[in-house]
Amino acid sequence: MTQGFDTTAIHAGAAADPATGARQVPIYQTTAYAFRDADHAAALFNLQEVGYIYSRLTNPTVAALQSRIAALEGGAGAVCCSSGHAAQILALFPLMEPGRNIVASTRLYGGTVTQFSQTIRRFGWSAKFVDLDDPQALRDAIDDDTRAIFCESISNPGGYVTDIPAVAAIADDAGIPLIVDNTLATPYLCRPIEMGATLVVHSLTKYMTGNGTVTGGVVVDSGKFDWSASDKFPSLSAPEPAYHGLQFHKTFDNLAFTFHGIAIGLRDLGMTMNPQGAHYTLMGIETLGLRMQRHCENALKVAQWLEQDPRVVKVTYAGLESSPWKATADRLYPKGVGGLFTFEIAGGYQAAVKLVGALELFSHVANLGDARSLVIHSASTTHRQLTEDQQRAAGAGPEVVRLSVGIEDVADLIADLDQALAKATA
Ligand SMILES: *Cc1c(COP(=O)(O)O)cnc(C)c1O
Repeated sequence: MTQGFDTTAIHAGAAADPATGARQVPIYQTTAYAFRDADHAAALFNLQEVGYIYSRLTNPTVAALQSRIAALEGGAGAVCCSSGHAAQILALFPLMEPGRNIVASTRLYGGTVTQFSQTIRRFGWSAKFVDLDDPQALRDAIDDDTRAIFCESISNPGGYVTDIPAVAAIADDAGIPLIVDNTLATPYLCRPIEMGATLVVHSLTKYMTGNGTVTGGVVVDSGKFDWSASDKFPSLSAPEPAYHGLQFHKTFDNLAFTFHGIAIGLRDLGMTMNPQGAHYTLMGIETLGLRMQRHCENALKVAQWLEQDPRVVKVTYAGLESSPWKATADRLYPKGVGGLFTFEIAGGYQAAVKLVGALELFSHVANLGDARSLVIHSASTTHRQLTEDQQRAAGAGPEVVRLSVGIEDVADLIADLDQALAKATA
């Protein structure tokens, strides 16, 4: 990224439309694209020429978004897809085979814990969960079948922060990629590739779009991993039977993972992003920097206010002086630690549930990263499929309330929490 963040957020991937001069990125609402002739069609299908065939694989509106996100993350390429969860499967797919595993952080979005501990087993894949603050535990968990380490930069729901350079060094030693879910931080607060990550995934559903209108995801590739350095990644390094023996890494070099994600991942798994969703996300990203500044400012003020209130037992925000993650946050996340955190209310489970019902400005929804403030009781919703031990390990115990602090006037948010706390603890 040679230009500043906000300039890139507005301009990357979005020159005036070559056909019409339209200044904003048009929604190319089309399924197919006319071939110039039979040779052109054959070249496209053979991956000898890059172009548009069919919108399950590529679409110009989605391509603009891919370029923009790749630029913001400092990646070689990016592949958008239908959701954040789709992005996780799309990221793992080229790396994994039956019998292989990943090592994942214990501090993850609840749906990701379920996807990794249950669903991926049907593909013959598995996950081992470790506390990534314990480097020795991480090293011990990696075995000959491990194909990736997975973590969140800022983690859901506690707003904890991961020491990405430390984890990336361990991944490097093991010769495997580090995948970072950067949903909560966004590239405004954290650029995992600069800290040594190989792949970055996002739920675009959250801050990137920023207004609760789109379900989308993306996988960004750093282009820096040597897929041919070992025989661990045959999908990328060995001849691909579905493309007449094409070798992705040899042919596409630092774009191997991106091309594989489109030519195999989207082609055969079909988890495509639609052009209208891509357009909304492009609009959202234009204001990402401004929004993230306000999310961070508001969240810090709300967390500080809650922490000094006798009706509150504990606040997890990594921006607070009391947080065990404050030093890591200052070192690696100097612009702030986002808008999401949890707190424990005096009165436990019952008071937590009452509080959620009494809030007026905070909407009770299973989402985060919206311009408006949101609240949820994780243990009875997003983390419901987890055991109580898994809930506690993920920072979502039964007495915990999660806030996604929006960009409204912070005094109004505090007033709303004040009245709801009074009702909940009366
Ligand atoms: C929401 C979320 C996901 C899943 O994204 P979807 O777009 O809902 O599929 C993954 N990781 C994190 C950190 C999330 O917040």
